[in-house]
Amino acid sequence: MTSATPFPAPLPLYAIGLGSNRRHARHGDPRRVLLAALAAIEADDVEPVDVSPIITSEPIGPSRRRYANAVALVASPLSPPDMLARLQRIEAEFGRRTGQRWSARTLDLDILLWSGGAWSDGELHIPHPAMTDRAFVLGPLRAIAPGWRHPLSGHTIRQLAARLIRPKPVARKAVDRRAAAH
Ligand code: AMP
Repeated sequence: MTSATPFPAPLPLYAIGLGSNRRHARHGDPRRVLLAALAAIEADDVEPVDVSPIITSEPIGPSRRRYANAVALVASPLSPPDMLARLQRIEAEFGRRTGQRWSARTLDLDILLWSGGAWSDGELHIPHPAMTDRAFVLGPLRAIAPGWRHPLSGHTIRQLAARLIRPKPVARKAVDRRAAAH
């Protein structure tokens, strides 16, 4: 007797970073842009699994632009290059303002992590190389995938987020030494 698999293998999981700092003529402010983008990402072959809270930051300096960021987990059989092409198509759709030529991009979509591990093909790098330096990525990602391990460093998202927020112990000692010298 052959042993048939009772359930199909789970689909690969992607963590997708979403960011916006421009209004969209139809969708509205950056927060609404992200909500519309989440709807646009969902497809027959891209199944939503979870989404973080949307964080927004006040404009700094002369810029009047609020930023909105979030992270979504989606399950999909698409290969990483096919997923990137899909996300770039959605970015392009959101970059076009009604009645105008191509404008500055309203929506930024990044592949942060893939359950298949690391991927690098010259055009695409997973994990996203900048994700470990960005609190606006690690904060939302920690809300939905705290135990996901960065495939290159082995650290969990919880650990990476804590490192970014807390000063490193070495730096702490240096501060203490400087304080003691005064
Ligand atoms: P940006 O618009 O600044 O996010 O950069 C987009 C470019 O980054 C594209 O040409 C992609 O090929 C490249 N890229 C490399 N790795 C990634 C990734 N993990 N997710 C999205 N874009 C990536």
